[in-house]
Amino acid sequence: MAVSLLWHRQDLRLRDHPALLGAIADGSVIPVYVLDDVGPGSHAIGSAQRWWLHHSLEQLDKAYRALGNRLILRRGRAEDILPTLAAETGATRVHALRHYEPWWQRAESELTARIETVLHDGNHLFNSRLLLNGSGERYRVFTPWFRKLLEHMPPPAPLAAPEHVPPPSIFPHGDRLDDWTLLPRRPDWSGGFNIWTPGEEGARAAFRAFLPKLGAYEDERNFPSRPGVSRLSPHIHFGEISPATLWHHAAKLEGEKARSFLSEIAWREHGLNLVDQFPDYATRNGRALFDRFPWRDGPEAEADIAAWARGLTGYPVVDAGMRELWQTGWMHNRVRMITASFLTKHLLIDWRRGEQWFWDTLLDADIGANAMNWQYVAGSGVDAPVFSRMMAPFLQSPKFEMADYIRTYVPELAHLPDDTIHMPHEYGCTPPGYPLPIIGHEAARARAMAAWDACRGQ
Ligand code: FAD
Repeated sequence: MAVSLLWHRQDLRLRDHPALLGAIADGSVIPVYVLDDVGPGSHAIGSAQRWWLHHSLEQLDKAYRALGNRLILRRGRAEDILPTLAAETGATRVHALRHYEPWWQRAESELTARIETVLHDGNHLFNSRLLLNGSGERYRVFTPWFRKLLEHMPPPAPLAAPEHVPPPSIFPHGDRLDDWTLLPRRPDWSGGFNIWTPGEEGARAAFRAFLPKLGAYEDERNFPSRPGVSRLSPHIHFGEISPATLWHHAAKLEGEKARSFLSEIAWREHGLNLVDQFPDYATRNGRALFDRFPWRDGPEAEADIAAWARGLTGYPVVDAGMRELWQTGWMHNRVRMITASFLTKHLLIDWRRGEQWFWDTLLDADIGANAMNWQYVAGSGVDAPVFSRMMAPFLQSPKFEMADYIRTYVPELAHLPDDTIHMPHEYGCTPPGYPLPIIGHEAARARAMAAWDACRGQ
């Protein structure tokens, strides 16, 4: 019987996995995950995601064992490891789902030169390379891209998991997961991650728990104190549930009312659409004008970055968000926008510093979504609004009723009533141990606009 390798990347599931079914159709299957810390360069998997990856791989191996197979782990460059593994086992083909991260693109093209590789669609709603405007060009802006995408929706119906995954006659050697030391040890800072259940079953449970809230998503999604969003992002990033599964279940249940949620699922793919067109989008300004933006640097700027990262800026909503991120590996979208705007506009720090911090601390860190959103908020993105649009944290915080959210993550302020908690310094009730704002909003605004004028040569 022919033997194939099934190369898992950010598709750590058995359901709706066309590459897995393709490999089974060929004969015996050796499922393999390769940890590559070299190929992605500055975007090697970050510290928080290593925690998730450990648990997700554990779950995937368990699921394979229940179907008569097991997951083989290897470490190194996939384009070297997979041909070697094929030679060891007599495998003649690699099956894999298509991915658009620049390092996977490079690995795929080297791999296909060395061994027959079958790439399947299935980790995205649609192949964005086929979405072209009237001039035959790819889209850079979300709205027309989404309109075009909708012409191809719904995606193919999700496929069932196989009932058996034929194993090879002899399993090749694989690394021990524990030897990869993906989990933090000294110190173990992952205590707050116990709210998550990585793995395909965890993803399905999270989606089931969210479905009753789907109809109210549009109204609730901007209020971090309420349970209005799905918190599916790490599961989606690691491919523990497919976008087609989300689309079909959500649309079936809520029809037109699911649209807002589905458009967010599409935003993730738009991020990849941008990175696929601009492979250095996570490190290079989308608009060249920003190459001469006078971002701050030096010791004072470093001290401000540290205050931002540790949640000690004196802006309660910013501090709540940054502490939520540190404790739980996740942050609500509205607060991500506020904290990113604060770093780039109030503190005038290059968006790439924020992108890197998020990359290391987010459980859902995703090259497309992270780069696109940072560049969007900073104003440097190909699709971004002008730099002068600056979020006002002290207004955002009461507008989106964030008092309870602040109480959860900034316990120093927990005793304050709703009307003062958003800006305690204004009411003279900043408690000892909590900082005053590191810069006033108006002063920050004036400094940011002067920098913007300097950048434009005005
Ligand atoms: P829901 O609101 O329930 O949305 C469902 C899914 O849609 C999400 O899980 C996610 O896959 C996708 N999605 C929602 N909003 C966006 C968005 N604005 N852009 C792209 N995809 C979206 N999201 C990431 O997945 N990875 C990142 O690295 C990331 N970095 C971000 C950085 C900044 C500065 C900002 C402002 C946003 C970032 N986002 C990122 C987008 C968004 O904040 C998260 O996807 C969302 O908060 C995840 O929570 P949820 O699963 O409850 O989302």
